Amino acid sequence: RNTVSVLDISVDNVTMEEAVERFKILLSEPRVHTIYTPNAEIMMAAHRDPELKKILTEADMLLPDGAGVVLASKIIGTPLKERVAGFDFTVECFKLSSKMNINYFFLGGKPGVAEEAAAKVKIDNPDIKIVGIRDGYFTSEEEPKIIESINSSKADVLLVGLGAPKQEKWIHKNKDKLNVKVCIGVGGTFDGLSG
Ligand code: UDP
Repeated sequence: RNTVSVLDISVDNVTMEEAVERFKILLSEPRVHTIYTPNAEIMMAAHRDPELKKILTEADMLLPDGAGVVLASKIIGTPLKERVAGFDFTVECFKLSSKMNINYFFLGGKPGVAEEAAAKVKIDNPDIKIVGIRDGYFTSEEEPKIIESINSSKADVLLVGLGAPKQEKWIHKNKDKLNVKVCIGVGGTFDGLSG
């Protein structure tokens, strides 16, 4: 991996195209992978929160979502190639559905939002397989059932939009129980897609 260290966290130095290529590789490996797309605020939060820092450091791909992260990389003399926003990256991954068979599960957002997002995504990507949807407001008692429904859906990719750093911590806590290939922390992406 070609990475740049920003605030002592290795961020992948990739273009959007390279990020999508790596996503395809992660999909082909039979274990759970994590992708996060921190902005400068989350990088700063990780600087103060060792647990979050460890979670980001252990990611299989860390994409620079914010212009601030790219700017910081330039200031320290090791410029990142470009900003790869989580929203844009997710949209690019959906486009692979015309050529690849990928099952997506949407987890997060207010009730109804991810359903609306899924409907919009299907208009642009008629071949996409969205095999499950669940809003992001649940109790810890409900989590085992949610994990069971993700696993029984045969999802390959789990998009988790609970906001940062909640989604990163949720993915980290549950990844060993999940039967998916890639988990992506997508922030407010479902809101963006539904609007
Ligand atoms: N959210 C959720 N469950 C929660 C808290 C937040 O599903 O317990 C969702 C919220 O509905 C929104 C997203 O998480 O869709 C957070 O979006 P925001 O743009 O604030 O997150 P960021 O992209 O800044 O991480």
